[in-house]
Amino acid sequence: MNQVTCAEMQLLIQADADGELTPAEAARMGEHLDACPNCAALPAQLANLSSRLRQEVPYHPAPDSLRAGIQARIAAAAAKPTPGRAPMWAAVRSWLRAKTAVPFGAGFAVAACLVLLLAMPRDRTLPDELVADHIRALQPGHLMDVASTDQHTVKPWFDGRLDFAPPVKDLKGDGFPLTGGRLDYVAGRQAAVLIYQRRQHIINLFIWPETGHPTPLTTSRSGYNIVRWSQGGMTFWAISDLDPKELAEFAGDFQRS
Ligand SMILES: [Zn+2]
Repeated sequence: MNQVTCAEMQLLIQADADGELTPAEAARMGEHLDACPNCAALPAQLANLSSRLRQEVPYHPAPDSLRAGIQARIAAAAAKPTPGRAPMWAAVRSWLRAKTAVPFGAGFAVAACLVLLLAMPRDRTLPDELVADHIRALQPGHLMDVASTDQHTVKPWFDGRLDFAPPVKDLKGDGFPLTGGRLDYVAGRQAAVLIYQRRQHIINLFIWPETGHPTPLTTSRSGYNIVRWSQGGMTFWAISDLDPKELAEFAGDFQRS
């Protein structure tokens, strides 16, 4: 496929995700996707990104003071139009009217919320993200890509799926049987996740190559306990609703085994 067509297709695929394609455009896109494996992967990736943004990005309404400040600045700009600016505001105004069909002030508040929404994920810490991932993984069907209590099945499963080889250990003898593994994507990087169990409690152990955490960290978020350590060029994050003492025991057993 030539590059001009693929670049154009990316625009069409995005428009399609928003339900904005004409039947003719949809037909042209369908023909291209049938013939171009690169572009064919894009709709699913876009849908995945979109659903992850909906599920994982925290929502914070804009405070009234911000809303009032933005409205005041718009009013000032509208009262004193300067060449070049006035048409932009007019365009934004008409776009908001068309898009939201609510009074202008409210429409702009929606846009301001979207801006805030996009700015928020930077404030989210890694432990927050790992806990969110742990909770999501507990939903039916999300916990494991490979379900096995055998480390000799789980370890090779990661081969070719990751550019690093996570240490896979069964801690059944210590009371923490391995139950499986999955691939995940955390803080912009690929992670191997091993799933262990103690009684009815699930432990998600996130692993990726990273050094520089010589001192173990113990913390908690939203009622979940977290232990982080580094070993052999990898960083490990164990997340569970298990009590802190038992989770620390798990971390110790993993490091010693
Ligand atoms: Zn293409």
